[in-house]
Amino acid sequence: MGLKSKVLIIGATGYLGKRLVNASLQQGHETYVLRRPEIGVDIEKIQMLLSFKKQGAHLVTGSFSDHRSLVEALKQVDVVICAVSGVHIRSHQILLQLKLVDAIKEAGNIKRFLPSEFGTDPARMADALEPGRVTFDDKMVVRKAIEDAGIPFTYVSANCFAGYMVGGLCQPGHILPSRESVLLLGDGNKKSIFVDEDDIAAYTIRTINDPRTCNKTVYIRPSENILSQREVVELWEKLIGKQLEKSSLSEQDFINIMRGQGYAEQVGLTHYYHVFYEGCLTNFEIGDDAEEACALYPDIKYTKVADYLKQYL
Ligand code: NDP
Repeated sequence: MGLKSKVLIIGATGYLGKRLVNASLQQGHETYVLRRPEIGVDIEKIQMLLSFKKQGAHLVTGSFSDHRSLVEALKQVDVVICAVSGVHIRSHQILLQLKLVDAIKEAGNIKRFLPSEFGTDPARMADALEPGRVTFDDKMVVRKAIEDAGIPFTYVSANCFAGYMVGGLCQPGHILPSRESVLLLGDGNKKSIFVDEDDIAAYTIRTINDPRTCNKTVYIRPSENILSQREVVELWEKLIGKQLEKSSLSEQDFINIMRGQGYAEQVGLTHYYHVFYEGCLTNFEIGDDAEEACALYPDIKYTKVADYLKQYL
């Protein structure tokens, strides 16, 4: 598995962060985890941090409100991966990373920084709708700060987290598949890309000291998981041995419904719109200036959507 690094993971107790810690340990890197004093008496987080320590991670104290503490934490490592929150229905803290960029600049020893991206490539979303474009705009602000500072980076574009999208058969507000019915977004034929979150973590960790991924975007496009909503539904129907009742939501009706929702919900729905009505994840070829993770690391056996769905039986 090549060179080993000292990796600091920030946002380690999060949905993706905890998987990054596990993957980093599994791939044999010396793994450091930021413990923010602000978590206070959050017993779940404390116990998760202690479980990381038990598995061999080092806990380092540091806060986004204490520049010096971040610099000191960074001085102990070579690589930084940030998985701070960026989903409005949970929490959205993407711009906090500007403080991290300042600390990385001062520390001066970081060989690779992977900011909290892990979704749609924000560089392709300049025309995204309000209000959901805030996710892409904020991630682009962070990219600019990284590039202005000359920090070596890798941006991981992970497409759709399977847990959010496959589980709910691509329907907003659903996270478990129905055995009765499904609402198709438009004709349900736009292709999307679904990736198991543990696989995202495994691919991400593989990039960290790979010279081919330095200063590049790495897209994760498992070929068998490039599917339309209809195809995801068909895989589920095959598993349960039954056809679901199907209805369809037109693009205009989707937008009208979206406009009646609260801010956080509208942000999320904007993302569904671009993925399932526009096909924003698959309407471009990966150019020579970027890489594709499954091609770079063919030895990683990714989870296929058909297998992912079996957990819901
Ligand atoms: P979470 O909401 O799980 O939060 C991650 C961590 O961020 C938290 O555990 C915490 O870590 C840290 N954090 C939260 N609030 C604060 C705060 N106020 N100050 C400092 N740190 C804070 O994040 P996700 O795992 O859901 O998201 C990670 C990335 O993945 C984001 O960039 C997001 O946009 C992307 N994403 C992509 C999806 C897709 O389908 N492609 C779906 C979901 C997310 P700690 O307490 O340990 O410091």
